[in-house]
Amino acid sequence: MTEVTVLGCGTSTGVPLIHCKCKVCRSKNPKNHRLRASIWVKSQGKSILVDTSTDLRAQALANKIPRIDAVLYTHPHADHIHGIDELRSYNYVQKQSIPVYGNDWTRAELLAKFPYIFGTGKEGPPKPEGGGVPQLILNAMPSSAPRVDVCGVPVIPIALQHGSKECLGYRFDRVAYVTDCSYIPETSIQRLFGLDVLILDCVRLEPHPTHFNLDQALDLVSKIKPKKTFLTHMGHDFEYLEWKKKLPKGVHLAFDRMTVRA
Ligand SMILES: [Zn+2]
Ligand SMILES: [Zn+2]
Ligand SMILES: [Zn+2]
Repeated sequence: MTEVTVLGCGTSTGVPLIHCKCKVCRSKNPKNHRLRASIWVKSQGKSILVDTSTDLRAQALANKIPRIDAVLYTHPHADHIHGIDELRSYNYVQKQSIPVYGNDWTRAELLAKFPYIFGTGKEGPPKPEGGGVPQLILNAMPSSAPRVDVCGVPVIPIALQHGSKECLGYRFDRVAYVTDCSYIPETSIQRLFGLDVLILDCVRLEPHPTHFNLDQALDLVSKIKPKKTFLTHMGHDFEYLEWKKKLPKGVHLAFDRMTVRA
């Protein structure tokens, strides 16, 4: 069985947006409060994080994440990677390095942005000084691989177009996480049939250059027909209770700290 907890279902700014006075941003309903997008997967006794969001510290505390065996990166945009330093707290208790995975784009950006963690790629990671640097091992996640063994858990990478870049979705058995995409190639669509649960990008109502909007998200749902879909990476267009009534059967807005099992 795979259990997935949505750590954050918000777009890159989070919801509420700083300074926004709209009804969603002013809402007191916690289901309208969205931290940056990330999920926590528990499968076969392992604990896997997808992305280290800007809000990772708050997410780890709120969900009491006890350990992290591996991190799968979708892509290197700031909202998905900037919590990387919080992994130190897991190094302290686990007393070993944590493997992290990403595609070519992600690995190149991680090396460029965090040389104090990964080195520059030539001389390997820097020697730890005090407790200040996360101990991480960078691994390739080839999107063409039919499946990749991540600490004993079979993971299916799913290549997605995110504007002009390639982002990765991930499938764990009958659950898939597909965020930050504006187009899904046919070979990847083939990897998304037979799902119990799909967690899917849906940034807003209007079209967006690098994300699915609601119409595009619903189009995909009607094509691959997962049993249940939860929309994620949402901005402040979506008031939880209002959209609960409007969405088609089987499609729901995700909310932070919700858990699904499949
Ligand atoms: Zn994002
Ligand atoms: Zn707002
Ligand atoms: Zn992105």
